[in-house]
Amino acid sequence: MYEWHWHIEWQTPYEYHAHAIKRVIAEERSEFQRVLLVELFRFGKSLIIDGKVQSTVSDEYIYHETLVHPLLITLDNPKEVLILGGGEGATLREVLKHKSVNSAVMVDIDPVVIDFAKKYLHEWHQGSFDNPKSKLIIGDGYKFVKETNQKFDAVILDLTDPIKDSPSQLLYTVEFYKQVKGILKENGGLVTQATSPSFSLDTFSAIYNTLRNVFKYVSASIVYIPGFDSLWGFVYASDYRSPSSLTAEQVDELIKEKINGELKFYDGETHEMIFSIPKHIRVKLENE
Ligand code: SAM
Repeated sequence: MYEWHWHIEWQTPYEYHAHAIKRVIAEERSEFQRVLLVELFRFGKSLIIDGKVQSTVSDEYIYHETLVHPLLITLDNPKEVLILGGGEGATLREVLKHKSVNSAVMVDIDPVVIDFAKKYLHEWHQGSFDNPKSKLIIGDGYKFVKETNQKFDAVILDLTDPIKDSPSQLLYTVEFYKQVKGILKENGGLVTQATSPSFSLDTFSAIYNTLRNVFKYVSASIVYIPGFDSLWGFVYASDYRSPSSLTAEQVDELIKEKINGELKFYDGETHEMIFSIPKHIRVKLENE
C-alpha cells in the first residue's frame, strides 16, 4: 500500500493527520530541525519540518498571499522589508511583487531549508533569491533584530510554530515584539503567522494579545489551508493603521496601484472573508 506521513499536531497530541506519500524527494536532519521534502498524492510537492507540513505546492499561495499583502498594502509604500524565516522563498516572492519595495532582507536560521528550496522548490521562490533587491542571510532572526542598525517599513515573521525548545520559540515573545518595534520606521508594521485557531485557540489568542501589549492597532485574519488540514491564523500589528480598516473596494484599488502581477487568492472580496472572524474566536481574542 502507500507510505504515510503521520502528523501529530503539537497543540492537539490526541489526533493524527495523515497524508499518503507518493515519493520522498529529499530528507536531512539539520542542526535545528528534521527537514523532509516529499510528493504527496493529494497536494503534490510538500515541505515538512519536524513532522509538520510547512507548505504544499498546490495551496502555498493561500498562506503566503494572506501573510504578505494585507500588511504591505496598508502601509504607505513600504520600501525596506525584513522577512524572518520564510525558508521556501515564497514570502520573498510575494514581497517583491510590491512596486514600492526596493530591498527585501530575508533571515532564515537553517541552511538546509534554504538549500532544499534552491534545489527543489522553484515553484515557490520562482527565482526570488536571485532578484537584485533580495538579500539572504543565514542566521537567527532573534539575534539579527537585536543587533541590526537598519530600520524597516515592514517585518514579516514567517516562522515555524512556537514549540518549546524550537529555534523560533523566542520570536513570539513580548520582549521580541518590543525589539521589532524598535527597528520599525515610523508608520511601519509587522505580521506574524499565528498558528491554528482550530487546533489551539489559546495559542492564536496568546499571540494576538502579546502583540496588543506592544502595538496600538492589532488585527487578525483566518483562512482555511487544505494542506494544513485546518484554519490558519495571522496577526498584523502597527502603531499606524490596521488592514482590517480597509474596505473591499479600497483593497481592490490598492492591489491595482501597488502590486505587479496577478494574485491567485487575495482581493477585496477575499479580504472581507479573511477579516470576518466568527463570534467565538472574537470573544476569545477580546477577552483574554
Ligand atoms: N508556513 C510555515 C508554517 O506553517 O509554520 C512557516 C514556513 S517557513 C519554512 C519557517 C522557517 O522558519 C524555516 O525555514 C525555519 O528554518 C525558520 N526559522 C525557525 N526559527 C528561526 C529563527 N530563530 N530565525 C530565523 N529563521 C527561523
